Amino acid sequence: GMKIGFIGLGNMGGPMAANLVKAGHTVTGYDVAGVTIDGASSASTAAEAATGADVVITMLPNGGILRSVADDVIPAMKPGAVLLDCSTVDVESARDVAAQAAKAGVGALDAPVSGGVGGASGGTLTFMVGGSQAAFETAKPLFDIMGQKAVHCGEAGNGQAAKICNNMILGVTMIATCEAFALADKLGLSREAMFDVVSTSSGYSWSMNAYCPAPGVGPKSPADNGYLPGFAAELMLKDLRLSQQAAEAADADTPMGEAATALYSQFVENEDGLGRDFSAMLPRFETKSRG
Ligand code: NAD
Repeated sequence: GMKIGFIGLGNMGGPMAANLVKAGHTVTGYDVAGVTIDGASSASTAAEAATGADVVITMLPNGGILRSVADDVIPAMKPGAVLLDCSTVDVESARDVAAQAAKAGVGALDAPVSGGVGGASGGTLTFMVGGSQAAFETAKPLFDIMGQKAVHCGEAGNGQAAKICNNMILGVTMIATCEAFALADKLGLSREAMFDVVSTSSGYSWSMNAYCPAPGVGPKSPADNGYLPGFAAELMLKDLRLSQQAAEAADADTPMGEAATALYSQFVENEDGLGRDFSAMLPRFETKSRG
């Protein structure tokens, strides 16, 4: 097996590290909150977890924390080792950390995931990966353990780019699906009829077909569980903000992404969205009128 340092053992990182232990790899974990993993040894600093590792995996809250962990970890890594960041962070932080690693003779990949906590514990995540082909080959066996699919999207930062573009579409289609359901209610259309038509017509999407925001129709989803997450609205807001930060930096026009960011920010920060699933936009629209 490989020698792996794992930094950030939270809701996602904890089960991902546990799956690597189960597959027979030697894992040394570090989390600032003191979390430990059965079968893994615990380091008392990030640098200690990185020392001698073939691959150092990070699963952290944001780009600022990634940058500070990278400052500690990269100088401790052996030449030719790979820093594999699976966090969702801004494209610029991912690219800066990769450049810093390259200068130190260390490989780097940005590999954000989709699949959530269920995918992390079940080992069924999808990885969207930016960085060199050589680093991708090194990490491939680990992607196969922690996930079911890894797409190499090109150079450093492209994994984060793919993730935020995907989630910008998701945020926009979820809002569109919810507002259309709320309109259909007011027009006297049943939810069953709405679902039956749209899920097999040109308005279909993952938000309607796989994650229907209306309780009692379509496959089981957080709507059938009181809108408990699932994928929390505040995590959607985080990803939408990253999309708008990237759009600003790249001078891209994203009016729908901007509108979705404003709505999720209103929902999470000024209404009752915090801690609810991102599909709880539907009851939100039901209680609103055109004004
Ligand atoms: P989390 O808050 O549960 O875990 C983050 C962990 O990092 C915490 O245990 C925290 O103590 C640790 N940490 C913070 N600063 C640290 C430092 N300086 N050194 C070491 N450890 C430190 O978050 P999570 O849900 O596991 O998410 C991790 C990342 O995965 C985020 O970037 C998130 O956007 C992304 N993500 C989450 C989900 C999800 O459904 N939870 C889905 C896809 C992607």
